[in-house]
Amino acid sequence: MTPDLSAPIAPDVLTLPRKLPGGMAPNLVGLTRDQLRDALIAAGTPERQAKMRVGQIWQWIYHWGIRDFTAMTNLAKDYRSLLAEKFVIELPEIVTRQVSADGTRKYLLRIAGGHEVEAVYIPEETRGTLCISSQVGCTLTCSFCHTGTQRLVRNLTAAEIVGQVMVARDDLGEWPVPGAPKDETRLISNVVLMGMGEPLYNFENVRDAMKVVTDGEGISISRRRITLSTSGVVPEIARTAEEIGCLLAVSFHATTDEVRDRLVPVNRKWNLEALLAALRDYPRLSNSERITFEYVMLKGVNDSDADARRLVKLIAGIPAKINLIPFNEWPGAPYERSDWERIEAFADIIYKAGYASPIRTPRGEDIMAACGQLKSATERQRRSRAEIVADDGL
Ligand code: SAH
Ligand code: SF4
Repeated sequence: MTPDLSAPIAPDVLTLPRKLPGGMAPNLVGLTRDQLRDALIAAGTPERQAKMRVGQIWQWIYHWGIRDFTAMTNLAKDYRSLLAEKFVIELPEIVTRQVSADGTRKYLLRIAGGHEVEAVYIPEETRGTLCISSQVGCTLTCSFCHTGTQRLVRNLTAAEIVGQVMVARDDLGEWPVPGAPKDETRLISNVVLMGMGEPLYNFENVRDAMKVVTDGEGISISRRRITLSTSGVVPEIARTAEEIGCLLAVSFHATTDEVRDRLVPVNRKWNLEALLAALRDYPRLSNSERITFEYVMLKGVNDSDADARRLVKLIAGIPAKINLIPFNEWPGAPYERSDWERIEAFADIIYKAGYASPIRTPRGEDIMAACGQLKSATERQRRSRAEIVADDGL
């Protein structure tokens, strides 16, 4: 059943019972087709049947949203029992779901180890966007971002990344009903990797998860409707074009290295010049159109006319859209949102230079669901990158 998303719903909190996920059996969710094939063979599926079984199981999980092996009726009973014995189909657990007055839904999800991440669904008139997380917390410490104040706990697995899309589909009632006429309207038409974490510090899992989400026989969201946002992890940008091929957004936020060093500290490693060089190659490598430059408007920090003019000069020659994001406040934030007139004057300079410069309306502010406001309670000591990478085998 499709919920009525147009009706404003008063903020509410749905609290579901907490249950720690995690049996010992491997989870089929998040495996690429090749990985699924290997897993099935290892569990005793004859090699010559493996491809067909992958196709069947894939459809059950990602087209129909089935979680129970016994419901996979085109598989022999014995085979279903074998699958149920060897594997699980497991998603993150919804701990709370908050619904904003504007219809935005924020999910707090519990994943293995008792960690928590957030995902946000933003309904709009002609589309619906799901904003998903790639890490618990973030290793980077952008000074205007709430997530940046939360220490990184770990990278999400591909299963946990795909799982966010599946959980939201569950909540929105978006799986097809067998026998019902095919419904082409999509509640989740777009996915943005703009939640917690830096996706390019979790490259392989993000890539594999996107392989699953874009697969035409399953969730089938085109890679042109997926936008990955990075703070500027330059060495992974070409790989993103080649191995994921989605749209790219970059958290630009400043027009001089001096200011960007302060706002987006990863700039000390890869400065504006290095970042811009990587961005120039992206549209060709990914065969995509425009790069989105995200620019958070911070009062008196990066919002002058001179900044706007420098911005236009810096990105000259790159097919671009500039997304101005009024700063979203969070408790203890060291910045203020630029005044509206300032944002409009800034937008005007960019527009006159020939760029689309939409000002992003904050969504779900009343439930702290807007850009940069996500932060879950999970905290742990900051760990080295080596430890995080080692943990990826989870
Ligand atoms: N880590 C990735 C993706 C997540 S952030 C990245 O940094 O790109 C999604 C966007 O929200 C980024 O452009 C980020 O810089 C911006 N953002 C972070 N905190 C914000 C805040 N308090 N107000 C407005 N935008 C914010
Ligand atoms: Fe991490 Fe992005 Fe926040 Fe920076 S803006 S701290 S990269 S989530």
